[in-house]
Amino acid sequence: MSTVLETEEHQALRTAVASLGKRYGRDYLTTVIREGSHAHELWAEAAGLGYLGVNLPEEYGGGGGGIAELSIVLEELGAAGSPLLMMIVSPAICGTVIARFGTEAQKRQWLPGLADGSLTMAFGITEPDAGSNSHRITTTARRDGTGEDAGWLLTGRKVFVSGVDIADATLIVGRTEDARSGRLKPCLFIVPRDAPGFGRSAIDMELHTPEKQFELVLDDVRLPADALVGDEDAGLLQLFAGLNPERIMTAAFGIGMGRYALGRAVEYARTRQVWKAPIGSHQAIAHPLATAHIELELARLMTQKAARLYDDGDDAGAGEAANMAKYAAGEACVKAVDQAVHTLGGNGLTREYGLASLVTASRVARIAPVSREMILNYVSHQSLGLPKSY
Ligand SMILES: Cc1cc2nc3c(=O)[nH]c(=O)nc-3n(C[C@H](O)[C@H](O)[C@H](O)COP(=O)(O)OP(=O)(O)OC[C@H]3O[C@@H](n4cnc5c(N)ncnc54)[C@H](O)[C@@H]3O)c2cc1C
Repeated sequence: MSTVLETEEHQALRTAVASLGKRYGRDYLTTVIREGSHAHELWAEAAGLGYLGVNLPEEYGGGGGGIAELSIVLEELGAAGSPLLMMIVSPAICGTVIARFGTEAQKRQWLPGLADGSLTMAFGITEPDAGSNSHRITTTARRDGTGEDAGWLLTGRKVFVSGVDIADATLIVGRTEDARSGRLKPCLFIVPRDAPGFGRSAIDMELHTPEKQFELVLDDVRLPADALVGDEDAGLLQLFAGLNPERIMTAAFGIGMGRYALGRAVEYARTRQVWKAPIGSHQAIAHPLATAHIELELARLMTQKAARLYDDGDDAGAGEAANMAKYAAGEACVKAVDQAVHTLGGNGLTREYGLASLVTASRVARIAPVSREMILNYVSHQSLGLPKSY
């Protein structure tokens, strides 16, 4: 793929991550999944090479780069067949929010560990009765005691939260009691994995990934005052500081997976021969693969734009671009995987070739963290000024 929008450093980072990816790759991830384990070795090695914390500030052990660099890391690991889903939440959302809005103590406690891989953080916003409508979330924080040192009691439910079992803590989006009515005024709380009252149960997903999704019950979880990240009255600004990187990273996740599937299909189409020439010479096979390549390239262009805007501090501009990048990448990923499976004929459905399991995995890029339809709603209302039906 061409990389005209990237610096030489970015291209060198791509090459370096790709070679790490090659040493792990799909076989590694498939073994990890079969054993019911986690990609700990890859996570640790990526962290040791400075890739996981590449976006975090240097003074806290990070690489001093931005989401542009972190998204390159995730895309290249994905293109090698071993994406690390937790990169979307741990360094990208949680690391960014703490680096931008955390206290000095919170930065010292979390950022060096998130960067060197010794600490991982999950992120929980989705609720069973709110779903795409995050204004409806009801997880509520009440003051526990009085005065400046008063802590918090957190109550509510979350669903589909990834990696809670391996994360040291989860950054939970709630709202304060006096903000329960009206528009969402989110507050962010760090909840340690073993906090009393913080229950989790794994959801039985048809997903071939090492990271599991959890339903969470927060039953009066008692937290210290400093569990709150940022200002309780800051509103949506702090949350979006984390959600835009999440969208950009999910786009990178989709592009990486799409590239991996396309690569496998092209390799197969070049050599598989059932008539006079390889199947890749039939335009019915070649053109959809060419289309997939074009759409992945276009999605990457928008992802680079979104990352550039975000890293330049243009939160508002990055919002539209991050949504468009996530949309484009989600669609390109789903189509590339579908065409790759089809290109392999019966082999597309065998465990040996390992592409069929990507069919459900690719749908994650269309659904999460914000669905295709919600992005189309955003563009209809925010970009085009059309009226809202809901
Ligand atoms: C693998 C995976 C990992 C995830 N990890 C996390 C995580 O770590 N943390 C976390 O907080 N969440 C996580 N999620 C949750 C994810 O963000 C949600 O699934 C997503 O936001 C959609 O919410 P929902 O599933 O409740 O769907 P719903 O909101 O119920 O939507 C269902 C369907 O209705 C459509 N729809 C809804 N409203 C409208 C509307 N106004 N107009 C048009 N169509 C509409 C949607 O597009 C969708 O197709 C994860 C999900 C998956 C699948």
